[in-house]
Amino acid sequence: MPDMRAILYERRGIDNLELREVPEPRVGDNEVKLRVLKASINPVDLMSVEVLSVSPIPHIPGSEFFGVVEEVGKGVTHVSPGDRVAVYTRLFDGSCESCLRGRQTYCVNGKRIGVETQGGYAEEIVVPARNVMRSSLRDEILASLPIAILTPYHALKIAQVNPQDLVVVLGASGNTGMFLIQLAKMMGATVVAVSTKAWVKDFNPDIVVDYVNAEEVIKEFTQGKMASVVVNSLGQEYWDLAFKLVGNYGRIITYGAITGGKAQLDVNKLYLKHVTLLGTNRGDMGDFIELLTLASKLKVRTWRTFRLEDIKEAFLSFKEGRRDGRIFLSP
Ligand SMILES: [Zn+2]
Repeated sequence: MPDMRAILYERRGIDNLELREVPEPRVGDNEVKLRVLKASINPVDLMSVEVLSVSPIPHIPGSEFFGVVEEVGKGVTHVSPGDRVAVYTRLFDGSCESCLRGRQTYCVNGKRIGVETQGGYAEEIVVPARNVMRSSLRDEILASLPIAILTPYHALKIAQVNPQDLVVVLGASGNTGMFLIQLAKMMGATVVAVSTKAWVKDFNPDIVVDYVNAEEVIKEFTQGKMASVVVNSLGQEYWDLAFKLVGNYGRIITYGAITGGKAQLDVNKLYLKHVTLLGTNRGDMGDFIELLTLASKLKVRTWRTFRLEDIKEAFLSFKEGRRDGRIFLSP
């Protein structure tokens, strides 16, 4: 087999990431080989490199990417070489009870590409054919679809966000935050983007406010009612703020904990405000298919696109928050 270039590591840590030549992966009957066109960095990728148990080792990270089909197995009919495809980056068997219920995220034989299998920070990757779908969406959208767009979309659906809602987005400039604003607007909600970055206004929220003034501004805007939905994907440091911003009968959604996952729950506030807490995790195939249409209307803010050889700088920029928009990789 010819070689390809890929990012690999054997021991944890950004410092241990290396660009190496490795054999190209082989294609099985029901698989497709993709040339990766663009990948991105999300918290799960940093966690893979620093803390998670990954396999196999040496490991190729990369949980979010898209590509063009180079080769298909004998049993593959729905895509052909040359097709640009979106990739649902969670493996699922399609036959367990969770899959049959449409909950592919909870497939009993499920795996996360880039965590429990080799990922997309490489020139090539082989994935099951059922995980790819033809798409003409723009590059940055396709490279954001599997996690950064899918996760907030699923969360807003589970919260049944509708035109009567006032949705507060904490971390509005983040990977998922920029899409949350736009998706909540598409669902008809009024959106308050909480961020220190002025450019989040480019995603057309109704209000942009910083963390210091968020409570006061939302109180005034809602005449004291506060938000019906607060999305806190940031974790423990923003837990108390989320409870301050949510109104009676409100919902607080979380799907991430980048500042830590040990929050203190004031049970009195929970029941006195009649609050519903919703935890969600990525999204299912049905959500993904819906997004193949919806996502054409989404905008992305790109900070930088790195080459594979600059992987350490890319990860350090992500970890230290030195960025104004998404970080992509172009193999
Ligand atoms: Zn399954």
